[in-house]
Amino acid sequence: MQVYKAPLREYKFLLEDFLNLKDDKILTKRNLELEDLLIILEEASKMCEETLLPLNVIGDAEGCKFDNGKVIAPRGFKEAYKIFSENGWQGIKVKEKYGGQDLPYIMNMFLDEMVSSTNMSFGLYPGLTANAIDAIEKSGTEELKQIYLPHLASGKWTGTMNLTEPQCGTDLGLSKTMAKPNDDGSYNITGTKIFITCGEHDLSENVIHLVLARTPNAPEGIKGISLFLVPKIIPNNDGSPNKDNNVKCGSIEKKMGIKASPTCVMHYENAKGWIIGDLNKGMKAMFIMMNGARLFVGIQGIGLSETAYQSALYYSKERLQGKLPNSKNIADPIIVHPEIRKNLMFMKSINDGIRGLMIKAGNAFDVIDLDQGKEINNSAENLIGLLTPILKSFATDKAMEITNHALQIYGGHGYITDHGMEQLVRDARITPIYEGTNGIQALDLIGRKFNIYNGLIINQFIDEINKFLETSKDDKKIQKFINLFNPSYDDLKDCINFIKKIETSNTLEINSHAVDFLNLFALVAVGFTWLQFIKSSLDKTNDDKDNFYISKIQLGEFYLTKVIFETKKFKNNIYSTGNLYNKFSVQNFESSI
Ligand SMILES: Cc1cc2nc3c(=O)[nH]c(=O)nc-3n(C[C@H](O)[C@H](O)[C@H](O)COP(=O)(O)OP(=O)(O)OC[C@H]3O[C@@H](n4cnc5c(N)ncnc54)[C@H](O)[C@@H]3O)c2cc1C
Repeated sequence: MQVYKAPLREYKFLLEDFLNLKDDKILTKRNLELEDLLIILEEASKMCEETLLPLNVIGDAEGCKFDNGKVIAPRGFKEAYKIFSENGWQGIKVKEKYGGQDLPYIMNMFLDEMVSSTNMSFGLYPGLTANAIDAIEKSGTEELKQIYLPHLASGKWTGTMNLTEPQCGTDLGLSKTMAKPNDDGSYNITGTKIFITCGEHDLSENVIHLVLARTPNAPEGIKGISLFLVPKIIPNNDGSPNKDNNVKCGSIEKKMGIKASPTCVMHYENAKGWIIGDLNKGMKAMFIMMNGARLFVGIQGIGLSETAYQSALYYSKERLQGKLPNSKNIADPIIVHPEIRKNLMFMKSINDGIRGLMIKAGNAFDVIDLDQGKEINNSAENLIGLLTPILKSFATDKAMEITNHALQIYGGHGYITDHGMEQLVRDARITPIYEGTNGIQALDLIGRKFNIYNGLIINQFIDEINKFLETSKDDKKIQKFINLFNPSYDDLKDCINFIKKIETSNTLEINSHAVDFLNLFALVAVGFTWLQFIKSSLDKTNDDKDNFYISKIQLGEFYLTKVIFETKKFKNNIYSTGNLYNKFSVQNFESSI
C-alpha cells in the first residue's frame, strides 16, 4: 500500500513564510486571501487522496489497452477524469476569459505535485494539456484561442506534444514530418510521431495535438521547423464535432512504468492543421510548452519522492526488527536505527528543498503575470530560464535515489509488488529521460544558459545569494548555517570561474563538465533555499506546537552538513576532467571485448 497525505502544512509554510504571499499583489489582484488558497489546496488533496490514489495500483496492473486504433484507459480512469475536469482542476491557472479560474501558477504546481504523488500516470492526461494551453495562449491566433482554449481548460478536450519521430529524438532538426500549405491558410500534415503521451485515449471527447513539422522549402535543421495544431476531430467554431481528422494511433508501447498512460505511435496522413506562432519559428512556440513540461516533470519527481518518503516513514514505524540496547521490547520499530533515520532525513531534506526551489520558479511566472515593468519581468524570466534545467534534472535524478531508498527501507517487502514501492521506482525511471534527457538539460545549462546575455542569468542568481548573505551578516542565529553553506558556495563560484576560462570553441571540454556543473549548481541552489527556510523559521520556534519550525531548522542543518558537501566531488570532477573522456578512443572502449 502506498501511503500518502498531501503535505498541506508544508504548502502553507511555502506560501506564508517562504514566499510571504500574505497581502501580496499576486493575491490582491485576484481578490484572494492566503486562506482561500489553502482551502482550494485542501479540496485538491481530497480528490487526489480519495479518487486518484486508489487507482494507482490498478492502473499499473491493468495498463492501457489498444483495440484497432482506439486506446482504452484502465478501469476507473474515465470516472476519475470526469471528477477531475468537472471540478475545474484542469483550468485552475487559465485566464477567466478562456474559461479558467486564473489562480496563481504556483497553485497548479501544488496540484500537479499532489496528482503525481497519488497517480503519476493519471497526471499525464491533464498535465500535457496544461502545457498545450500555455503554448496556444502565448503563440496562437485569437481565433484558435477562442475555439480551443475553453474546451481544453474545461478538460473536455486534452492536449499532446508531438516532437519525437523514429529517427529524431534529442536532435529535433532531424524531424521529417511535412506540412503543406492549403489556400485557406490551413496546412496538411503528413508523418509519423512516436512516444506520444496520451496521443489517443477514451477520457476526453477530442485530443488536440501540437505537432512539429517542416514546410516545403523550409531551411534545413531546427531553423526550418514550425508548430501546428492538429485536432483528432475537427471542431466547428462552437466546439461541436465537425469531422474526423486524418490522425490515427498505430499502436501503444509496452513499457517499464507509467503503464496507465498510453505512449502512442501517431500517424498523420494529410491531417488538417493550423500554424501556431510564426513560420519556421516552431521551436520558439514549442519551447513555451517544453519549458512548462520540463518543470512539470521535475514536479513529477517531487511527487513520487513525497509518496516514497511518506510510505517509508509509515513502514519504518510499523516494522519491528532489531532493538535498541536498553529496550524491553522483543523488537523495536526500525525507525529507531540511525541508518533508517539518516535515509529518511536524506529523502525529506532533499525533497522539501527542491520543492521550495520549484515554487520559487513558479512564483516567477506569477510575478511576470503582474507585469510590473521590463526589469522585473526580465529578472523573473532569467530565473525561470536558469532554474528549469536544474529543477528538471535534479528533482528527477533525486526521485530515482529517493524511491530506491524507500524501497530499501521496506527490505524484501519493497521488492515484491504488494506495497507499491517497486512501482514508484519504475514510474520514476522515465522522468530523467523524457522532456529532454537530464544530460541534455545539463548541456542547456552550461551551454545556452551559462552564456546567455554574457552570463547575466547566472550572475543574477549569485547576486541574490550575496545579497542574502550580506543582509544576514548581523543575524547571529543564522551564522552557524551560513558557515556550513559557504564552502559549497565557494565551490560553485570557483567552478563558474574555471569554466569561464575554457575557450568557448572547446565545446567538447565544456560539455564534459555539464552534468557535474548542473549537480553542483543544484546542490547550492537547494542549500540556499534551506538557508531561506531556516531564516524564516528561527524566530518562530517559541510557539511551535507541531514542532514544525524546529524540525525545519534541524532538517536544514542536516542538508547543509550531510548533503550539500557533495559539491566537493563535483568540483573535483570539473577540475580534473580536462580532455580525459575525449582522449579515450572508441577502439579503447572495445579493447577488452
Ligand atoms: C514514456 C515516454 C513518453 C514520452 N512522451 C513524449 C511525448 O509526449 N512527446 C514527444 O514528442 N516525445 C515523447 N517522448 C520521447 C522522449 O522525449 C525522448 O525519448 C527523449 O527526449 C530522448 O530521445 P531519444 O529517446 O530519441 O534518445 P536519443 O536522442 O537517441 O538519445 C540517446 C542518448 O544519447 C544522449 N544524447 C543525445 N544527444 C546528445 C548530445 N548532443 N550530447 C550528449 N548526449 C546526447 C541522450 O542524453 C541519451 O542518453 C516520450 C518517451 C517515452 C519513453
